[in-house]
Amino acid sequence: MSNSSGSIFSIDSNPTPVTPGERYKLLQNPVFGRVFTDHMATARFTPGRGWHDMRIQARGEFKLDPASLVFHYAQEIFEGMKAYRMPDGSAALFRPDANARRFRSSAVRLAMEPLPEEIFLESVRALVRIDRDWIPSAEGAALYLRPFMIATEVLVGMKPSSDYLYCVVASPVGSYFKGGAPAVTLWVSENFTRAAPGGTGAAKCGGNYAASLAAQAEASREGCDQVVFLDAVERRWVEELGGMNVFFVFDDGSLQTPPLTGTILPGITRDSLIVLARDMGLTVREEPYAIDQWQADAASGRLREAFACGTAAVVTPIGKVKGRRHDLTVGDGGAGPVTMRLKAALLDIQQGRAPDPHGWMDRL
Ligand code: PMP
Repeated sequence: MSNSSGSIFSIDSNPTPVTPGERYKLLQNPVFGRVFTDHMATARFTPGRGWHDMRIQARGEFKLDPASLVFHYAQEIFEGMKAYRMPDGSAALFRPDANARRFRSSAVRLAMEPLPEEIFLESVRALVRIDRDWIPSAEGAALYLRPFMIATEVLVGMKPSSDYLYCVVASPVGSYFKGGAPAVTLWVSENFTRAAPGGTGAAKCGGNYAASLAAQAEASREGCDQVVFLDAVERRWVEELGGMNVFFVFDDGSLQTPPLTGTILPGITRDSLIVLARDMGLTVREEPYAIDQWQADAASGRLREAFACGTAAVVTPIGKVKGRRHDLTVGDGGAGPVTMRLKAALLDIQQGRAPDPHGWMDRL
């Protein structure tokens, strides 16, 4: 099944639409998610044929029937991951095996055909290899990869699709927050929740994000950067942000993050930071944290720092929290030392400046 490059993905050698000069300009401080590389990876699933037509081709449009199931019932999942430029000029992916596993479990939750992890890994590796000149080298910059899968059976009827299209596009990115955001302000959503027990909160499906947009709009109207969601049952426990997990740092030096009970996304950054914090000798608890406790601990000084984390935003300090019943400042409202130490430890591994004791970097 593999071609001369050893990949199961066939490479269409299309002319590059962007010149090196144009690319250089596009790579200077790109707006997050607006600039794309020259190629994309695609694969299709059809009953009887299984996964086939695995290609790396020029990035372009899809032709889809308007009755494709994805347009009607949102059977769609995606991933977000980064490739970094190493100091020696080579490229490396951060924990792509973890994204491949999460993609598989998202597919199972959405009753979609799970993509074999080997095909996922090959697709992102082949795309990064061919578009490696698009990986920016500035501090904190990377090539963001967006694998996704949609239901393509032509049917207006409620059932899992028989056919699927898998695709990966890539986008060079700098900082997620405009101006690098030294610390963000959160809005506590009382009107909206993100995920209920038994729902799709732990899956990375487009519907979760569509459903979070009204809450994010409310946060923006209130002058806040991001929304923080509470649990859907008691509206008491802090869950996560629209696209980031959350951590708390206490005066005894310990850390706490909400547990993975099925309603929050199991972040790969979250998992990596738990490992790095424990490597540093810090205690990390995966335990629920109440929003009223957050208010009380910020007031008493027991809470020293709070931060959000995810692939796109890496580690971002949380400075303030506002809501109809809440108004608090964490520490002095800026970036705390434990937050910055963990951020540096993670970025040093991701950008190849530090040893990689856990084997997280997939060098290409
Ligand atoms: N929570 C949500 C809802 C997300 O969309 C993301 C981004 N994938 C995260 C947390 C962080 O996950 P990761 O560290 O794997 O990017």
